Amino acid sequence: MYKIIDGKEVSSYVKQQVKLQTDILKQQGITPCLAVIIVEGDPASRVYVNNKKRACEVCGIKSLEYALAGDVGEEELLALIDKLNNDSSVNGILCQLPVPKHIDEKKVIDAISPAKDVDGFSAENVGKIWLGDYSISPCTPMGVIELLDYYKIDVQGKNCVVVGRSNIVGKPMAALLLERNATVTVCHSKTKDLASFTKNADIIVAAVGRAGFITADMVSEGAVVIDVGINRLSDGKLAGDVDFEAVKEKASYITPVPGGCGPMTIAVLMKNTIEATKMQNNIK
Ligand code: NDP
Repeated sequence: MYKIIDGKEVSSYVKQQVKLQTDILKQQGITPCLAVIIVEGDPASRVYVNNKKRACEVCGIKSLEYALAGDVGEEELLALIDKLNNDSSVNGILCQLPVPKHIDEKKVIDAISPAKDVDGFSAENVGKIWLGDYSISPCTPMGVIELLDYYKIDVQGKNCVVVGRSNIVGKPMAALLLERNATVTVCHSKTKDLASFTKNADIIVAAVGRAGFITADMVSEGAVVIDVGINRLSDGKLAGDVDFEAVKEKASYITPVPGGCGPMTIAVLMKNTIEATKMQNNIK
């Protein structure tokens, strides 16, 4: 019998913990502040930004929104980031991705000061994760770790297969699992016989971006199945990378989509904003 990993429940718990920390900071006269930049045009980005603002409210974090027109120039966006980097009242900065094609995403990521990079995308913060010496966590992968911890799923010595090797999900996911003593295999589009890896996995993390990609025949009995994928179907519904209905019958634990990993990303973003605030104020 499988158990559903409830991302809504865990994300509420994490946000409650963040709120307690915000309250302590406020007693010291410090109000954590997150600046969110959005280049308008992508409806999904607008939904994500609104969700982030709502999470800030729940956590007592001040949020600032900078909504830029879709044709904003790269220079103007980079100048805004520079201004926010130098504003001591702003503790965290994120620019909602993707940005339009005329803007170089890498330049945007590189422009955000690592101390305020609450998404954890900067080269410095990514490097620190691999060194095992970090305060700012990669939001989505750390959200997966929070889910595993909450359900007391120990990864030590387990065979963990991460499907997907993007810089924001697959690679940092592998680093976090490795740090926790899992035996980690990272699979990608060039992997031969993917099922031979996933079938041997105690824990599968799917981050591919293809609806229903992980099917029941690719999963062993009792596996923990974490679905990071968020795919919009033609009928407008959201679906994960895992064929949930079939795979759940074999899994011991499984995340639904929506309501699994999705809410965790924002919860960790809130946590990172507090961490950044503490670091900037020399608070341990
Ligand atoms: P990317 O497109 O950047 O990466 C997808 C990865 O999947 C690549 O590494 C690619 O391999 C691999 N892949 C593609 N096809 C196959 C295949 N046939 N077999 C094995 N591997 C394959 O996506 P992201 O990592 O950014 O996102 C993945 C999913 O997670 C998406 O659905 C996205 O919406 C979702 N997501 C959810 C978040 C959340 O908040 N829960 C946050 C971020 C993403 P290769 O490198 O060889 O091309």
